[in-house]
Amino acid sequence: MKILGMPTLVGVPFDANSSYLRGTGDAPPAIRRELHCDAYNRWTELGVDLGAAGAYEDAGDLALTERDAFPAIETGVAKLLEQGRRPVSLGGDHSITFPLVKAFAGRYPELTIIHFDAHPDLYDELDGNRLSHACPFARIMESRLAKRLVQVGIRTINGHQREQARRFGVEIVEMPALPAYDKLKADGPVYVSFDLDVLDPAFVPGVSHREPGGMTVREAIAHLHAIKGEIVGADLVEYNPVRDLGGVTATVAAKILKEILGKMIAEG
Ligand code: MN
Ligand code: MN
Repeated sequence: MKILGMPTLVGVPFDANSSYLRGTGDAPPAIRRELHCDAYNRWTELGVDLGAAGAYEDAGDLALTERDAFPAIETGVAKLLEQGRRPVSLGGDHSITFPLVKAFAGRYPELTIIHFDAHPDLYDELDGNRLSHACPFARIMESRLAKRLVQVGIRTINGHQREQARRFGVEIVEMPALPAYDKLKADGPVYVSFDLDVLDPAFVPGVSHREPGGMTVREAIAHLHAIKGEIVGADLVEYNPVRDLGGVTATVAAKILKEILGKMIAEG
């Protein structure tokens, strides 16, 4: 077993690049509340006890303002990486994955990104905003921050984004092609970007862009467990408490987070 760094939670309270609804900036405390709720035990499905001393740590939320958010995210996460940690960020709209991956690319030049999403987020710009949550993977790929980008669960691709995917060599697994476990084998470090709306809105009403026809929670966990490679970090984005119904989406987000942490610990 290879010794990788300590998985470390870090909240990102930022939603200013949302194109439709704000609210994802309030996700970090809501996800933590469910993660620590006494309704559940601390064991993950891979047999890891997250309640054991030293299983993972929590660095709290990044201090940021809307104006300085991207540099603050990049520097804050780079600091955690310098300490040898494996950061797992909570909350935010998906635009934050650009500064997050910038920090990771500084340490891991040969990164494979495994991206769960209903949307490819490959727009060159949306509503005049090149940093929109619809654009992070265009910015990441044109800045050559990743060796491979594998997108899973996609079901909203349009002509422009298909062209962008071709241009950047993105490997897209559209929803009807699941399961696709063979696409989840990576050489070298892996970064997991998990947009909750990859799941069917029946499971996660608390997202800004509900897209029917998505993964079940079981399918998502099966794909997370099937990843082959060293997971050096992850993000869990797009949970929007404003849209949630009875907190059910927070429960699902905490479950996905548990399984990401369990996977990192079991294999790290
Ligand atoms: Mn997204
Ligand atoms: Mn999405």
